Amino acid sequence: MNAPPAVTSTIDLASPGKQIGRLQYPKISNTAGWAFEFVPIACFANGDGPTVVVSGGNHGDEYEGQIALLRLVNELRLDQVHGRLIVIPIISKEASQANTRMWPSGVNFNRSFPGSPEGPPNEQLADYFTRVLFPMADVVVDLHSGGRTAWFLPCSHMHVVDDAAQRKAMLEGMLAWNSDFHFLYVDVNGTGLLPVEAENQGKVVITTELGGGGRVPGPVHRLAWSGLRNVLRHVGLLEGEVQTRASLGLPDAVIIDGRDPSNYVIAEEAGLFEGLREPGETVSAGEPVGRLWFPDRLGRDPVPLAAPRDGIVACIRAVPVTEAGNSVFTIGQPISRDELL
Ligand SMILES: [Zn+2]
Repeated sequence: MNAPPAVTSTIDLASPGKQIGRLQYPKISNTAGWAFEFVPIACFANGDGPTVVVSGGNHGDEYEGQIALLRLVNELRLDQVHGRLIVIPIISKEASQANTRMWPSGVNFNRSFPGSPEGPPNEQLADYFTRVLFPMADVVVDLHSGGRTAWFLPCSHMHVVDDAAQRKAMLEGMLAWNSDFHFLYVDVNGTGLLPVEAENQGKVVITTELGGGGRVPGPVHRLAWSGLRNVLRHVGLLEGEVQTRASLGLPDAVIIDGRDPSNYVIAEEAGLFEGLREPGETVSAGEPVGRLWFPDRLGRDPVPLAAPRDGIVACIRAVPVTEAGNSVFTIGQPISRDELL
């Protein structure tokens, strides 16, 4: 693929200083020819240090990261930065405005990688990350949550990559969020994820699941804000002392291993979902975590949805109306940090 990226930037990411601008790509409509879609971007570059790319709004209805990054652009001073920080607070801007996970075209941006300059707009934007942003990065931070559809234990999470040095750096970066829980995930549902592209390029990739359920509560924002800044200190970009759970007087975090695909429970039939247990709670194999009711079958008993194994609930469905095949909850099993080195 030799065609230049279809996306352009109004700021020069190689220049020092604080710059605020936008990425833009063609967006032609019935009321606008020769038009563009804008994706705001900020760059803080000051002296030597790592390059960190941090993004929110990969999925439009995951607002926790979007708000933390809007705040970061406002409050960060250039003299606090050693290296270069590139911030894209809201990748999927139209989806964010529409309060949807997917783009208005129906595509999932987080299944758009590596992308293509000659593909549809989501692939054009993914291609810009793949061929322009990631190659200049040492660290890639992509902020997610359960969105409207799920409530996830507010945490940072990671893929357990094969390369030992990359895995260790990602594990330490994940732990630097200082959340009570962390989650190890596998891709049970398609390919083309932003973090996987960055991992394949050898980057230290740090991702989150910061709550969800359609709101941004104060405690979740405080965790998004404190975790983000501590991670930026941890990787050497932001000035200040790195905090640990020990230095904060907190017990060690619980790492939940969700790598066994049996941990991802889906509904076998449509119904109304009722949660019986909450994320963070320990459950035994066979124990109901939720159940389905049947509005068209008055008198039918609800169907329990049981934990497939012993574990800790990591996330649970936040929308009662459930279709066959929808994810209803995910669990995982505790694992020690040392087992991942
Ligand atoms: Zn997401």
